[in-house]
Amino acid sequence: GATTTTTYAATPLAAFPPVARLPARDTRRILVTGGAGFVGSHLVDRLMLLGHHVIVADNFFTGFKRNVQHWLGHPNFDLLRHDVVDPLMVEVDQIYHLACPASPPHYQHNPVKTIKTSMLGTINMLGLAKRTKARFLLASTSEIYGDPEEHPQKETYWGHVNPIGIRACYDEGKRIAETLTYGYANQDNVEVRVCRIFNTFGPRMNPADGRVVSNFIVQALKGEQLTVYGGGNQTRSFQYVHDLVDGMIALMNSDYSQPVNLGNPEEYTIKQFAETIRDIVNPAATIKDLPMPKDDPQRRKPDITRAKTEIGWEPRFSVVQGIEETVEYFKCIIDDI
Ligand code: NAD
Ligand code: UDP
Ligand code: UDP
Repeated sequence: GATTTTTYAATPLAAFPPVARLPARDTRRILVTGGAGFVGSHLVDRLMLLGHHVIVADNFFTGFKRNVQHWLGHPNFDLLRHDVVDPLMVEVDQIYHLACPASPPHYQHNPVKTIKTSMLGTINMLGLAKRTKARFLLASTSEIYGDPEEHPQKETYWGHVNPIGIRACYDEGKRIAETLTYGYANQDNVEVRVCRIFNTFGPRMNPADGRVVSNFIVQALKGEQLTVYGGGNQTRSFQYVHDLVDGMIALMNSDYSQPVNLGNPEEYTIKQFAETIRDIVNPAATIKDLPMPKDDPQRRKPDITRAKTEIGWEPRFSVVQGIEETVEYFKCIIDDI
């Protein structure tokens, strides 16, 4: 029969963002689960630029191929369509485990799947870390503190979570993921790192995922009313995504194995935050009150003493600087929304 030969035209390296050339002994093979998502894709960019080999495993539930498309075809980069609920066989030195929907409307869309992702997905990635002796970093969350009775939140606080509420699939899923992580560390000597991430924003946030920063910016750009839930006296502390990426990489490469908060302690009420975005984007925009979602935490602010002392990290961007850059991104994509 006829033989078909396919020839691949290799993309010239000059077509990609410039990556560092690392000596072989410093080059790591790094798996990023959820690497096509908002945070994951920024982490991938940084790891690629540093000169590492990066494998992304993502099922594209809330992530997009376009978030990493600038690396497709690069010899240091692989993109796998993979659901972490299923086992994965790859050979790696480090695993950043981010796969999990993060926005309330998305993680509540199929709560059982969210729990499976956190539980079975984390077991699989820890099993992979155990077999390959890779170092494992879990992207945990401030949500493990629930509706906190301690303020600001230190890593020693055990939390206040409703185990059967609408946020439980996410909060309890991440809590069991942390428990699993330390289970594998203690039982199987897996090297682990855990960061508890506080609300993060920046370019590539999904404009339709319902989180407050993207909602307010898109609403203000479109001249719509900004939707403040429940009067807006609840607080959040927002960090710019590039600070978070710095912290995750610093933590992964540190010797510190206990959980570390990564967040910006600048605390805003949601109402103040709406006014801040309105003033930056569109002073003519008005604010509309909508009901408070169930189990919405009242206050949230990280104590970052541990991050400062143990890994030498603190945020470099102010919230307003980050918002200004994020607004520029949303201006570029607003016509597609
Ligand atoms: P995101 O929804 O943009 O990214 C999550 C990624 O995981 C997406 O690409 C999605 O397709 C992928 N994913 C989901 N389920 C999967 C599965 N079963 N198998 C494979 N891939 C799957 O969210 P994000 O904001 O980038 O969050 C990334 C991580 O950081 C999450 O673990 C989240 O819990 C954590 N986190 C984020 C924030 C924040 O404010 N953004 C705060 C705390 C914690
Ligand atoms: N696993 C995986 N990739 C690997 C090694 C393990 O996905 O390279 C999965 C494996 O399928 C199992 C899970 O990780 O379901 C936990 O592995 P472990 O070795 O801890 O448990 P066991 O296989 O003994 O159940
Ligand atoms: N929120 C709001 N308007 C919106 C979206 C969210 O007032 O359009 C509020 C929400 O009730 C919560 C805060 O903003 O108190 C942060 O919501 P987000 O979904 O971004 O994150 P999380 O609740 O998980 O911290």
